Amino acid sequence: MSGETSLRVVVRARPMNTRETKEGARRCVDFYENTGQIVINDSATFAFDTVFSDTADQESVYEKTALPLLDRIFSGFNATVLAYGQTGSGKTYTMGTEDNDGTDTIRRGIIPRLVDALFKRIMETSVPESFTVTVSMFEVYGDNVYDLLRAEKIKLNVHGDEKNCTIVNLTAVPVIDLKGALKQLAVGCHYRTKAETAMNAMSSRSHAVFTVIVEKTPTADDDAAFSAKLQLVDLAGSERLKKTEAEGNRMKEGININSGLLILSQVISALATKQKHIPYRNSVITRVLQDSLGGNSFTVFMACISPADTNSVETLNTLRYADRAK
Ligand code: ADP
Ligand code: MG
Repeated sequence: MSGETSLRVVVRARPMNTRETKEGARRCVDFYENTGQIVINDSATFAFDTVFSDTADQESVYEKTALPLLDRIFSGFNATVLAYGQTGSGKTYTMGTEDNDGTDTIRRGIIPRLVDALFKRIMETSVPESFTVTVSMFEVYGDNVYDLLRAEKIKLNVHGDEKNCTIVNLTAVPVIDLKGALKQLAVGCHYRTKAETAMNAMSSRSHAVFTVIVEKTPTADDDAAFSAKLQLVDLAGSERLKKTEAEGNRMKEGININSGLLILSQVISALATKQKHIPYRNSVITRVLQDSLGGNSFTVFMACISPADTNSVETLNTLRYADRAK
């Protein structure tokens, strides 16, 4: 934890990929897991709550970051996990925002692991029937929000004020087990990928959010009631667009996306430094996450990086961004 705040900032590197190896890339990052430090280019040092080197597996990343959020959820608080980083840095792999039926227990990411643990925990309670779990999945692209659990691509409106924000008509599907939840995740991933082919690698420029709402009603011997929201966010790629790419429409997209990530950084750092005014309303992604960032909620900010020196410019940008979030 950063002091008394409810925000944890962690960094995870993926292993070097074949292309980087072929290019003769060298490692440019060193990890000091005991101190949470990371050194880049043998010069700049950053410190985070936790750092995961490229040998860390999915299970240990999950156990040290997302699993502790479960207690918060069962105490009725909202929680958020955000994956940040350049395209190809491992955001989707880490979050598990991909079609995975849950059978690959080694590779599966945070979403299937957390939802699995959530249902196991519900089954261990005296009255599992007092819990309802509902899932949604949506995408924020520029200023627009799209439902990912519906075949038609329609823009959804975001309504709300300083305190509360809702996505109007967002599909919410009640699920009773891991299998049911992963089925909806697969549907959302399917529509996201489908849009990608039609719309120019859109998925690297959009934020994908998988939302789980856990509600508990009072029972005869337990009058506790709550509704807690868990938001699992695979953020847009943080890379700067190349000049040639940044033309026409695409430039607009790039600017929009970057401004979402920029506002997110301002929101997180305003929360971390306990400022009075938090600029949630300045971007759509921060508006829709408003009730799960700050207040009584718990947030894990996961910065994903490549270990290769061929990506060191973007990696340094990512570490600086994560550093500002602390
Ligand atoms: P992003 O979502 O940030 O664009 P991906 O999650 O799609 O990146 O990762 C890019 C590629 O690297 C994928 O093929 C993914 O399976 C692989 N990958 C990412 N992180 C890891 C990891 N920690 N271990 C093994 N493979 C990984
Ligand atoms: Mg991805």
